Amino acid sequence: MIATTESYYGFIEKCELVGEDLEFIFDSFLADDYSRLVASRGDLSIVDVAPTLFYLRIHRSDVKRVFIVFNPLNVESRWTTITLSTTKQGVVAQKFTEDWSIETEVYVSSIYFLDARRRDDKATIRHLRSLCSLNLLAVKDIASLSDVKTSIRRENLRFVSVYDVGQGNANAVCTEDSRPHLYFDLGGGCLQNRKTYQTLKRFCISSRPVVFLSHWDFDHYFSATQVPSLQKLTWIVPDQQVGPQGFKFAHRVAQSGKLILWPEIPTITNGIISVIQCTGKRRNDSGLALVVTLGKGRHRRNTLLPGDCRYRHIPGLSQFKLGGLIACHHGGDIGTRPQIPVTQNGLIAYSFGVHNTFGHPSRGTQTLYRKHGWQNARETPQGNIAVENIKKTPALACGGRKCDLVIRQIY
Ligand SMILES: [Zn+2]
Ligand SMILES: [Zn+2]
Repeated sequence: MIATTESYYGFIEKCELVGEDLEFIFDSFLADDYSRLVASRGDLSIVDVAPTLFYLRIHRSDVKRVFIVFNPLNVESRWTTITLSTTKQGVVAQKFTEDWSIETEVYVSSIYFLDARRRDDKATIRHLRSLCSLNLLAVKDIASLSDVKTSIRRENLRFVSVYDVGQGNANAVCTEDSRPHLYFDLGGGCLQNRKTYQTLKRFCISSRPVVFLSHWDFDHYFSATQVPSLQKLTWIVPDQQVGPQGFKFAHRVAQSGKLILWPEIPTITNGIISVIQCTGKRRNDSGLALVVTLGKGRHRRNTLLPGDCRYRHIPGLSQFKLGGLIACHHGGDIGTRPQIPVTQNGLIAYSFGVHNTFGHPSRGTQTLYRKHGWQNARETPQGNIAVENIKKTPALACGGRKCDLVIRQIY
């Protein structure tokens, strides 16, 4: 008999096809802890258990060795039970504890998809989802969203920045002295891609910036999990499903800062920022995208910050004449009908970490961008980028004493 301590409930954070391999990340917790939660009848919550993260990379043909039933469609955000083997049978996975850092090798003997068509599973799925629902932490408050909107004024905003955070994404809209007024993602390379982001960046919060989160993938908010002061800010986040680790982070923001859950509206705009609800199904495609409009007259520039969302899932894009772009999904493959926005002499930035496990950015995708007019490319491994046509590299308010946001690349 396998000891119950080796079984987990795992939320599928990510399932990515990389060549002939499938990469999985599970946000999990012990099945024993689930029993404790159930027995407590609401006295304990998911923040009282320790999340465990698993990273698994297997060849397509090996999927059946570990998955009891595998349906490659709609895998993300499903709940599973994961059973580990003590006898080195099954497939190798990396196990990380809640603080992201300790990596041990384990053997997974089986993974079972909880199936809503089965009565027992249906109740468990419903319970697991409700335990991790972001709606427990925040209300969909349109009034506070309007406050955020009016707090962002054009006069002193100069450029969009893209920071070097390894295999992840962290963007901002900055004043002349490189101070972020608004962040869009505060991520970074983590788990299997931690080596791409060995020194955590110090971010500037001197202007009390608000933070928009594109979507709930770890590489888009990892930096903020490491720095309590970033959790004290106001965060506007998409309403997506998360696992225990994601929920714990959201809980910390709700406790020490402010968490605003994006309401059921398609967009907000104030002429400087337009935040757009993406309309795809997958997590990457169903979060928030941002268009930033800066400058006057012929220097006016619209820059699109899509997070990882493929362009066809961002409604209303055609109304913006784009001159700046952060390549979606770290410049990775964007499918056979990519619908890349067309421009002339466009400024494009790629945010990724060297030697990441996904092979981002893809050569083919970069060629496609050039064909669509995105001729001027910069990449974050060469340093922080200001997506703007400027003659002189902008200065940094603190001179680099308090933060690591000095701009290294302009266009
Ligand atoms: Zn993503
Ligand atoms: Zn990403």
